[in-house]
Amino acid sequence: MSAEAGASGRTTSEELPLTYGELASIDVGRLRGVGDAKRRALSEYGIDDVLELVMTFPRRWVDRTNQLRVAEATPGEEVLLVVEVRSVEERQTRNRRKIVNLRVGDGTGTLRIVFFNQPWRARQLTPGTTIAVHGRIEDYRGSLQMTNPIVDLIGDRTGRIVPIYPQSEKARINTWELAGLIDQALRRCEQRGVADPLPASERDRLGLITRYEALRAIHSPSTMAEAQLARRRLAFDELLRVQVELVRRKRELERTSQGIRHTIDGHLVGRFIERLPFPLTAAQSNAIEEIQRDMASPHPMHRLLQGDVGAGKTLVAVASLLTAVQSGHQGALMAPTEVLAEQHASGISRLLADLQVSDGGNLFGERPVRVELLTNRIAGADRREVLSALEDGSVDVVIGTHALIQEGVDFASLGAVVVDEQHRFGVEQRAALRAKSGGLVPDVLVMTATPIPRTAAMTVYGDLDVSVLNELPPGRTPITTRWAAGPLDEVAVWSAVRDEVTAGRQAYVVCPLIEESENLEVAAAEDTFERLTTDELSGIRVGLLHGRMHSRDKEAMMGAFRAGEIDVLVATTVIEVGVDVPNATVMVVLDADRFGIAQLHQLRGRVGRGTQASTCWLVTSGTDPNARVDALVATTDGFELAEIDLELRGEGTLMSTAQKGRSDLKLASLRRDRELVEHARDVAFSIVDADPDLSTHEVLRDEVELMLTETESDYLTKS
Ligand code: ADP
Ligand code: MG
Repeated sequence: MSAEAGASGRTTSEELPLTYGELASIDVGRLRGVGDAKRRALSEYGIDDVLELVMTFPRRWVDRTNQLRVAEATPGEEVLLVVEVRSVEERQTRNRRKIVNLRVGDGTGTLRIVFFNQPWRARQLTPGTTIAVHGRIEDYRGSLQMTNPIVDLIGDRTGRIVPIYPQSEKARINTWELAGLIDQALRRCEQRGVADPLPASERDRLGLITRYEALRAIHSPSTMAEAQLARRRLAFDELLRVQVELVRRKRELERTSQGIRHTIDGHLVGRFIERLPFPLTAAQSNAIEEIQRDMASPHPMHRLLQGDVGAGKTLVAVASLLTAVQSGHQGALMAPTEVLAEQHASGISRLLADLQVSDGGNLFGERPVRVELLTNRIAGADRREVLSALEDGSVDVVIGTHALIQEGVDFASLGAVVVDEQHRFGVEQRAALRAKSGGLVPDVLVMTATPIPRTAAMTVYGDLDVSVLNELPPGRTPITTRWAAGPLDEVAVWSAVRDEVTAGRQAYVVCPLIEESENLEVAAAEDTFERLTTDELSGIRVGLLHGRMHSRDKEAMMGAFRAGEIDVLVATTVIEVGVDVPNATVMVVLDADRFGIAQLHQLRGRVGRGTQASTCWLVTSGTDPNARVDALVATTDGFELAEIDLELRGEGTLMSTAQKGRSDLKLASLRRDRELVEHARDVAFSIVDADPDLSTHEVLRDEVELMLTETESDYLTKS
């Protein structure tokens, strides 16, 4: 048989389907019709090889099966027309707005198209151009008109479903030329086929079409349903590559690192929980159980604890740290800022006061659990004392900023690390911890209040396990959120603030976020402070807090606010996380439309921490509706907000990197493709666990290497 194959005169590799690697090695210049000029134009567009060509996906498809003729279009309807541009006219309105008017027609009739504020349309849509326009038909003084429709240059293509490729104004390659070249390239692949990294059994189980079918159908579908099947298959492939990479790294870390087997039936955690003035929520108990199961195992824990603001993450963190302490190790908690580290330290010291840990070297067999703060502000002899107590093991729990583990601090035996409000704690940082505990890797718990939809968590944080605190402790009063649109509404806000202060409660005022410059942001906060103290809030005790203040002054200001010596705290976003003052019942966010959903949600979580009803005012200087502000007014559910956020920010693609050329993750959407993310993760686990080196999954292995650029794979695993 092998003789016969040899006699056929073909080498084995010629008979095998084409891999992405092979497609990447074929220059587009080898396609018919691609001369030097076209080659350069393609290159400018980001396409140099055949893989990049066929992986340039349509931005959308124009479904001409729904197309109407102009004579059939009636006002009020939303329609798709394919028409020729007859004439173009540019005008300027009295208030200097640019208008482009087109007269278009298709032989059955004509209509007018008006573009506001799109002056470039005059250059793009010259007479004679054939365009598809999609929009609502209006009746303008008895004749048909469309305003700002979606326009696609479709050339003279006749297919029922026409792919539209991403275009830039200066691109010297148009959408139908691209379609033609892609078609040519895929036809040439037809004989050998395109290698499919997914076994047929998995394809069938998941209802996915083959790789080659998908590539054909995404570029020239015969129905819209087929286009969707193609997108689904290719999106799955993107997600699978990412998951394979993440799962491999996870497994490798597990293989190469030895964790600590912590004792989970010790007394410390039990006693701590018994002494709390309230029962744990069911979600807290579950999370602690999951964490302890990880901590008892020989593999290092790497778990994300997600819980909305106020869900009670701190107690879960403390239980984790105490699990390490009762096992004879130390725990470290790292906060994003010094203010928060200080606040955690004082809160946790209170929680652990009088708690005893067994100590063989002590006459009574026990000693109090020792908690210390270590930030840049702890200096001189105090610092030396804490450092040496960490080294000899007499400090059980240390609290500091994220820099804590990087500062050459030596531990007797670091057993657990909790990272607060940092979303990412990468492989490298975890590896660095090894040195702190005699070669064993401490268990790591990352906490965040930023609600990450589960699918995103699995993708972006694919090598993490996830625990979720999805209920708030009982007795919370919900926060009412209101939109104050413009200066008139704002007046009402300040009088509401005065009323609350008169009633003995406190308020936060958050100043405009100025991402470009911290200096400007500080200046804006100072201005607001001046204005409020001399005007709207005169006579009230107002304090100012911003990032440029010395941390001693910041802490003094927070202390005064906590103690009720200040009624209103004007601040920049430095108060975004962790600050806990139950008597504060009003939050005013100025220029709220400058903030993102997640950030507004975080800010809002600073109130509603006590038993009094709280209000969050989102102030905008204009009166235009804003989708993010609307979302905050509509719901306080962090997970729902996270979903809305993904939606508003586009399709929730993973990375903001260029979406052209070989960059992966162009099609997958975390919002739409939730179910695919889970499937991809399952498949990745089963493949990697059966074949860790992917030696029998060469096609997949090579693809992961080829497609996940260094930036992307770094992004997935580093902080
Ligand atoms: P998070 O860090 O998740 O925003 P915290 O841990 O700061 O939340 O907890 C918020 C508040 O809720 C704290 O005052 C805490 O004492 C309280 N708390 C935590 N767990 C419970 C519980 N099970 N029952 C009642 N109150 C709780
Ligand atoms: Mg917290």
